[in-house]
Amino acid sequence: MDGEPETQQRTSVDLGPQCPSCGEPWLRPTNLPGRYRCVYCLHRFELTSVCPNCGEHSTIVRMSSTAILKCNNCGDSMLQAV
Ligand SMILES: [Zn+2]
Ligand SMILES: [Zn+2]
Repeated sequence: MDGEPETQQRTSVDLGPQCPSCGEPWLRPTNLPGRYRCVYCLHRFELTSVCPNCGEHSTIVRMSSTAILKCNNCGDSMLQAV
């Protein structure tokens, strides 16, 4: 297991998607595809392919940081706590 240092701060802080748990815009993608972690409250989330709110399937384009985090049908978050 290689412990990758995640505490390294970057100078250009780009406010990302909001955390569903604490509401702070500190969601960051992890090294696992479709997985995100809030660096503020340290909760982990998984990007689902089916909307947990309306059940609509979403075509998720997993292109690094530009992944769609919201259901394009109802606008609910596609992130589920892991
Ligand atoms: Zn959070
Ligand atoms: Zn939906």
